[in-house]
Amino acid sequence: MKVLITGGAGFIGSHLSDELIAGGNEVVVLDNLSTGRFENIAHLDGNKSFQFVEGSIMNEMLVDKLVERCDVVYHLAAAVGVDLVVKKPLESLITNIKGSEIVLDMVHRYHKKILITSTSEIYGKNTNGPLKEDDDRILGSPLKVRWGYSTAKAVDEMLAYIYWKEKKVPTIIVRLFNTVGPRQTGAYGMVIPRFVNQALKNEDITVYGTGKQSRCFLHVKDVIKTLVKLMNSKDAVGQVFNIGSQEEISIENLAKKVIEITKSKSKLVYISYEKAYEEGFEDMQRRVPDTTKVNSLVGFKPTIDLEGTIKSVVEYYKK
Ligand code: UDP
Repeated sequence: MKVLITGGAGFIGSHLSDELIAGGNEVVVLDNLSTGRFENIAHLDGNKSFQFVEGSIMNEMLVDKLVERCDVVYHLAAAVGVDLVVKKPLESLITNIKGSEIVLDMVHRYHKKILITSTSEIYGKNTNGPLKEDDDRILGSPLKVRWGYSTAKAVDEMLAYIYWKEKKVPTIIVRLFNTVGPRQTGAYGMVIPRFVNQALKNEDITVYGTGKQSRCFLHVKDVIKTLVKLMNSKDAVGQVFNIGSQEEISIENLAKKVIEITKSKSKLVYISYEKAYEEGFEDMQRRVPDTTKVNSLVGFKPTIDLEGTIKSVVEYYKK
């Protein structure tokens, strides 16, 4: 198949490119290298099944041309990372809403199948767990940037779903919970690459808030294998799926685990959310996915545990 991956030079997109090329597909990556990095895909450069196009999903003519040429689209391009979204709210909102609208418009024009990645941010402050796909979203004011981001991604989901309902465009929505692995950068806030880099340099580990908030981290390899299975499943069309780990850990314990794995001399320092992000910032206290749905349809069982995941990030940064 000829596959278009928007955001294919990003952390997740580049691993997806590797997987699809290894599976004998032709891959075209569209990425504007805003948060994605050429070095993530440099090893694919020169492969005759691979093409990199530097450009934006906001460029309608370019997206039109690329979608027409491909069989299926994985739409991963987005402004992600809490830190990035807080620091560049306008750009993030426009990319996430208008950019996705353009990509969906083109898959509609050429009637191509699309898998669109959404986020666990959708659930907002709902701390029930494990969260099922049809659970309620609990959000604060849209004037708080984080909830604006959650809403923008919800608009993407609505568009994708309604294109399926009304126009029969084959769309699949995937909500990614915290995803980690080699090539992820801490520059946009993501906690594990940040902690690993701090630990490797024996610097203070910056725990935000009380550190009692918890997350579940899944290795990117387990994520992308599931994305491909969903794309290849007829029954996934018109549906939304959670993908994530259920191995829950508090951020404070995560910091300790990173110190232990790296044998670092680092100490934990606690930093208020106001200092870390902005005045009035609200965090999610807990976020655990229910993955029954994806497991029933395509079989989903993480193969790499949290310790293995952290070690893979440590190895990457040591190199
Ligand atoms: N976090 C932290 N220190 C950091 C970066 C993040 O304590 O240097 C916390 C953050 O406040 C959140 C958790 O780690 O509670 C996960 O943050 P991340 O941005 O990786 O993902 P998300 O909040 O989107 O789950």
